[in-house]
Amino acid sequence: MPIETINPATGETIKVFEETSATDVEKVIESSHETFLKWRGTDFKHRSILMKKAAQVLRENSGEYAILMAQEMGKPIRDGRAEAEKCAWVCDYYAENAASFLAPEMIETDATKSFVTFQPLGVVLAVMPWNFPFWQVLRFAAPALMAGNTGILKHASNVPACALAIEDVFRKAGFPEHAFRTLLIGGSRVASVIEHPLVKAVTLTGSTPAGRSVAQKAGEMLKKTVLELGGSDPYVVLEDADLEATVATCVTSRLINAGQSCIAAKRFIVVEPLRKEFENLFVEQMGARKMGDPLEEDTDIGPQARHDLRDELHDQVVRSIEMGAKCLLGGEVPDDKGAYYPPTVLTEVKKGMPAYEEELFGPVAAIIPVEDENEAVRVANDSVFGLGAAVFTGDSAKGEEIASYELEAGCCFVNEFVRSDPRLPFGGVKESGYGRELSHYGIKEFVNIKTVYVK
Ligand code: NAP
Repeated sequence: MPIETINPATGETIKVFEETSATDVEKVIESSHETFLKWRGTDFKHRSILMKKAAQVLRENSGEYAILMAQEMGKPIRDGRAEAEKCAWVCDYYAENAASFLAPEMIETDATKSFVTFQPLGVVLAVMPWNFPFWQVLRFAAPALMAGNTGILKHASNVPACALAIEDVFRKAGFPEHAFRTLLIGGSRVASVIEHPLVKAVTLTGSTPAGRSVAQKAGEMLKKTVLELGGSDPYVVLEDADLEATVATCVTSRLINAGQSCIAAKRFIVVEPLRKEFENLFVEQMGARKMGDPLEEDTDIGPQARHDLRDELHDQVVRSIEMGAKCLLGGEVPDDKGAYYPPTVLTEVKKGMPAYEEELFGPVAAIIPVEDENEAVRVANDSVFGLGAAVFTGDSAKGEEIASYELEAGCCFVNEFVRSDPRLPFGGVKESGYGRELSHYGIKEFVNIKTVYVK
């Protein structure tokens, strides 16, 4: 079946791509494995030179990649360039640190010598989402390749040109032809790739249902998985928070990537004494961002990535309002051919409503008023998700305490919005997935942590 890409800003078809045939999928997997057998024997110095070149290619072509992202999934062009730059950063980071992260660890036992060595696994499959079409892939690929694995990408079906461009980054950087390959296949064909004996592990970034399905197949085949899934990040706002700074940070986080980020702030849990002031300022700032053509330099918010996702989001808003939430801003689908959705603020959001229970993957903020700090923490944790969380308070020691011991999430920030950084581990708990990306933890996910004991 051909893969058709549609520009979400106009509704027009951009291009039709041929799906990779079953025969070609087989060839790609076999070639990837053949390459692995040689690639695993190269030293870190060699891999690092190539990875630095990949960073250079990303920087030199950031403008071109930003246009692809704008056309395929509606990301504003400024943000697309920044994304390509961030990818270059993660390539440089692992080029510079992989050797020390994976250096053998000597351990004193009764042996003459005993140590741990980190050996690559082989072909790793990456199933990736469209929302950060370059960043999500590079943050997998840079550590996986530096560790000596080879990678196969199955990207989201709405971003095939981005997927092919990423394959080309590694080719241009001088990596072996099959060190990083792209398959143009739909989600329904992922299971057959996982089943292939030469595929040793799989990582998926995407929704919880897709994660479940991949985990099920990988479990059956006993293959290692890393899952980075959905989130409904709570931002707890306490009475002693600096309101101006807090609102500005919350709005920025909610609107990143037109609200389509797994770690965007989604639920704003505000203590009653601050609630009115928070709402007023929040509505003012949410309404001040410029929504428009992603190819324009001054656009803050582009369209949603697909029309069906925009309609799903609107349905969640409508159902929440029907159940008693109050809409303070937005909430209407604009009369436009593009998949636009305006910044929307719901308040008086309560348990049972979609805005409380589900992930709102778009520019819709759910304000949940609470009596005090205890209730705020309880509501923050009252979610199936556990990806990111933040707490805003004038007392940073108290914030640190809440972030460290009380919030159930993989990444907890104090007085700042949750963001990914190559130096910090990234991942979730509960239905947000398991395993970690980035930092030294990320590069150790797809290696054999091997014990060597010499009598
Ligand atoms: P999605 O529908 O789950 O798609 C993600 C990837 O999985 C795509 O390549 C998709 O392929 C594939 N896929 C879908 N169903 C599958 C199945 N049953 N078996 C195997 N593969 C399958 O998610 P999305 O709409 O693209 O992305 C949004 C979601 O990703 C949100 O929930 C967001 O929170 C999450 N996300 C998480 C992180 C994180 O780091 N935790 C980062 C970014 C996004 P097709 O496109 O061909 O269907």
